[in-house]
Amino acid sequence: MFTNRKELLKLCTLSGTTEIGRNCNFVEYGDEIVMIDAGYSFPGQEMYGIDYLIPNVSYLKKNKEKIKAILITHGHLDHTGALKWILPELGYPPIYAGGFAKALIEEKMKEYHMLDKVKIFGVDRKSQLRIGKNFQATFIGINHSIPDAFSIFLETPNGNVFFSGDYKIDLTPANEPQTDYDKLRQLRGRIDVALMESTNASNPGKAPSEKEIFENLTELIKRQKGRVVVAAFSSLITRLYSLIEVAKITRRKIVLSGRSLDQAIDIARKKRYITAEDSLFIKEKDINKYADNELLLLCTGSQGERFAALNRISLNEHKFIKIHKGDLIIMSSSEIPENISTIGRMTDRIIGLGADLIKDTIDLKIHSTGHGNQEDMKMMYDLIQPRTVMPIHGPLTFRYFNKQNFLKWGMRDEDILLTDDGQVWMLDGHTWVKGKKVESKPILIDGLGVGDTGDIVLKDRKQLSEFGMFVTVLNMNIKTKKIIGRPRFISRGFVYMKGSQELLKEIENLIFDIHHDWEKQSQDNTNIKLDNFKEAIEKELSKLIYKKTEREPIILTVII
Ligand SMILES: [Zn+2]
Ligand SMILES: [Zn+2]
Repeated sequence: MFTNRKELLKLCTLSGTTEIGRNCNFVEYGDEIVMIDAGYSFPGQEMYGIDYLIPNVSYLKKNKEKIKAILITHGHLDHTGALKWILPELGYPPIYAGGFAKALIEEKMKEYHMLDKVKIFGVDRKSQLRIGKNFQATFIGINHSIPDAFSIFLETPNGNVFFSGDYKIDLTPANEPQTDYDKLRQLRGRIDVALMESTNASNPGKAPSEKEIFENLTELIKRQKGRVVVAAFSSLITRLYSLIEVAKITRRKIVLSGRSLDQAIDIARKKRYITAEDSLFIKEKDINKYADNELLLLCTGSQGERFAALNRISLNEHKFIKIHKGDLIIMSSSEIPENISTIGRMTDRIIGLGADLIKDTIDLKIHSTGHGNQEDMKMMYDLIQPRTVMPIHGPLTFRYFNKQNFLKWGMRDEDILLTDDGQVWMLDGHTWVKGKKVESKPILIDGLGVGDTGDIVLKDRKQLSEFGMFVTVLNMNIKTKKIIGRPRFISRGFVYMKGSQELLKEIENLIFDIHHDWEKQSQDNTNIKLDNFKEAIEKELSKLIYKKTEREPIILTVII
């Protein structure tokens, strides 16, 4: 089908390689580029005030006239969330996405008043697209935790790349067809490299089917005489489908608590993935009009997020939902490791209010991951049998263990490539050779600002949050260079002033010493300025304060 075979195929694992989130890769051939996904990630706890991190697209920006398309594997924000910022920078290249992802993206674009500029086209399980002069993209239906999730097979005149996307092999999916095994099998012998997600690479066995979760939840809720409150991720649309079916079977009305849940269910109903009469849903303020055994409450906040519904319920701060004896709280979710202690404190409060609590356990599965375990991964591998693989979508440890899986399944060490963010690879015959890296340091998004929050601002925020601030105010006669009166000190979050008189006395003495030296120096040398005095105070004070307190507050000097 292709005639132009002169060029080398280039693949760049730009972002989302070394962690979960912020997915963005691209393939370049000749004067054309196709991108796959454009997601964001959430900052680590040390990044104060940062809302999102997005992929660094400087290389793509420089080559924006080459970009022919952005292909989207599925609608989760770690694969689509950066579009808002990236599209204007890249001149709005066309987007191809499955129906559900398309609806979610359009909703966001409407929110940002960008919908009129965005060119977005829907794809389905039959889609095969010619893109530019050099690319052909095949979308292959898979199962994940959101409808219309795809693996993507991208062909070029000189080599083909497979993107697994997020997937699991669900033999009994909730409300969608199974993975398209035939189509995957047809790729055997044609994949030069497969980028394979690694999220659950260390989990043995198979990921539980959504049907099993649905059945367990139905049994559990059927037995309850009181209200049932279920905490679930609003991004796991397949679970929301299951829960709404459970409500129908158990004859309970649904109360939605949390904006992201409202939005998710709204789109799922519009796309007719979830079918439910309006009368199935009741408003939070009306819950007291119904008997306890007629209610199923769905909440956000399974991770103990401060302002999410379940946490507000646990704090007894929720306007309409007050826990009472007989309520059952079901956590139909996993616990993200860094949230475990927060979730623990929240469930402590819930139990303290008299409710019963059920969490997901091996004996009773009420949550299933959307990412395949080792057996799912092996099934995928057996189906496609790629020449080489690159484990992606996870820290090096996850990807290292995923590499062990592929070795166990018979791949050769040299055919399993551990790549990095920004790494460019070129296909030379049958071998992938490393090229020069492109810029890949993530861009920080702080509120409405893009990339205007650098490392220095972050360092300040971190320092402030850990050690507070210490300000010295000096009254000075600028002409005579004499300090008038005694220095004044202001502390915010550093020390309690009244209890620190000894330290303050030492600081005061140090300041007078520094002043004395500076005064002498400035008499001999006219280059010595007031700024040098300020700098010296800040430097020497931080040394003294660290020595005495082992703390590093932000130190400021104000001269008036
Ligand atoms: Zn996903
Ligand atoms: Zn993902």
